Amino acid sequence: MKVARILLEGRPRYAALEQGNTRLYSAAPWAGGQLTRETVADVSALARLAPVEPGKIVCVGRNYGAHARELGNEVPSEPLLFLKPPSSLCGPGAVIELPAMSQRVEHEAELGIVIGKRLKRAGNAEVAAAIAGITCVNDVTARDIQRKEVQFTRAKSFDTFCPVGPHVETELPDLTKLEVLARVNGAVRQHGKTGDMVFPVLDLIAFISQVMTLEPGDLISTGTPEGVGPLGSGDLVEIEIPGIGVLSNRVSTPTET
Ligand code: ZN
Repeated sequence: MKVARILLEGRPRYAALEQGNTRLYSAAPWAGGQLTRETVADVSALARLAPVEPGKIVCVGRNYGAHARELGNEVPSEPLLFLKPPSSLCGPGAVIELPAMSQRVEHEAELGIVIGKRLKRAGNAEVAAAIAGITCVNDVTARDIQRKEVQFTRAKSFDTFCPVGPHVETELPDLTKLEVLARVNGAVRQHGKTGDMVFPVLDLIAFISQVMTLEPGDLISTGTPEGVGPLGSGDLVEIEIPGIGVLSNRVSTPTET
């Protein structure tokens, strides 16, 4: 099932995108929501929101060897964790805003995992049973700021720096056999395989759960393959996981509000 989040009459709703029919949930399915009898005739006419409302977004640095090397880093011996704040979320089709503080903003195409059950010091089998779905994430990064600071917080946390979507796929494919692509204005910049991850998805989430309790709706972004590069105003950046979906966002200097 493809689970989207739409804006219906001013209200955010979770929706099941089925062939020729869109049914609404009472809440996020991973938060106990059930399918209702409410339907939407033309979902394409409605604004799409990020399909998750995570309490936390846990990210992993240098989880593909070739990407660690392209930035001149060693492959870590343990997963390198950092957080992005929920305020950085950005829906499919929304604008990624280039902050005045940075001269070098880059895309990072990543496989996102949505947690479906509470995980505390979990093993791999428990993790496998607790994944609600997968989605595309763009871990947008102010690379110049990241290079000059020890903490990743400022470089990774600007508003709009976490596009997610376009929906969550709840029918799980083999997570070790996915491809992760980034295109900018149609040109392929990143094309990685999840089989090349230093720490595979289940190991990674089990490791994170030794540190912090993961709750339903939390989002894990599993690291980016090689090929990261700059974004400029007017660019169209697409993150694709073939078979899952394409997350598209336009890039712009912020409009004053
Ligand atoms: Zn990343």
